[in-house]
Amino acid sequence: MPAPAHHVSQSDLLGYVTGSLSAPVELWVACHLTYCPACRAEVELLEAVGGALLQGSSEEPPALPVLPDVDTPPPSAPEPLPVPADAVFPSPLRQRAGSLQELSFRDAGYGLRIAKVGREEGLRTFVVDFPAGMRVPRHGHRGIERGLVLRGGYAEGGQHFAVGDVDVHEGPDDQHSALIDDDGPCTALFVTEGPATAQPPWLGWLADWWLHR
Ligand SMILES: [Zn+2]
Repeated sequence: MPAPAHHVSQSDLLGYVTGSLSAPVELWVACHLTYCPACRAEVELLEAVGGALLQGSSEEPPALPVLPDVDTPPPSAPEPLPVPADAVFPSPLRQRAGSLQELSFRDAGYGLRIAKVGREEGLRTFVVDFPAGMRVPRHGHRGIERGLVLRGGYAEGGQHFAVGDVDVHEGPDDQHSALIDDDGPCTALFVTEGPATAQPPWLGWLADWWLHR
């Protein structure tokens, strides 16, 4: 499996290291880290810097690296951690929600399946299983939507997203639509701050209806 190309932002990594993220966003970051050697290295460095500062060390902390631009593959990244072929969910999600097979999915029509993972701190965490070849209707969000590909992939905005990639959208004006790869289903973890808004309101309505029940 190639290393992810779309990474968690430096501010979210910093929040992860300092423990200031909400539990759902922390879960989302932890899941990305299982796929991403570049972000793991970044976290280790931030922890080292934080540790040095806490100890009041007079030593110069290591210089903060500049995260690669989104879509730029990290240079000489080591291989991602091995993931068993049958384990679609990374371990932090498995610990929270069980396996893909154990999660309680509801059919939402059109071959789409949604499973609630939790609702806490004003955030909804859920897993969506998209059928191969599906075009996800254009939609935005009232807050931030953080996504992470767990299986399969999709094209969006001229870019491709595959396993381990994160995809973040913010606000109703950040309208996006995805075309699921046609060689198999795509499963993704989402943490959203607000209800989806869609035009037409197909997915947003559907997701809100289901998630609010
Ligand atoms: Zn990363």
